[in-house]
Amino acid sequence: MKQTSASGQSEAPYICQTCGRQYQVLGTLTRHMRKECNQPKKYVCRMCGRGFHYNFKLQDHYYYVHKGSGALRKD
Ligand SMILES: [Zn+2]
Ligand SMILES: [Zn+2]
Repeated sequence: MKQTSASGQSEAPYICQTCGRQYQVLGTLTRHMRKECNQPKKYVCRMCGRGFHYNFKLQDHYYYVHKGSGALRKD
């Protein structure tokens, strides 16, 4: 009974040289480097100055870390 080692421990062969993140798929690493790693963080928290690549992450940050203060939600 031989099984390929596809299951179980997942090795990530593609590693970002800049930040060390690991990826299974080359395309994902490429996208990361283009859209995340080499890009300045466009969305910066007004409360603590932390930066995010995506607005929804910033909104989540406001929501969870700052309990909604500063968020741009319109309910
Ligand atoms: Zn990176
Ligand atoms: Zn913050």
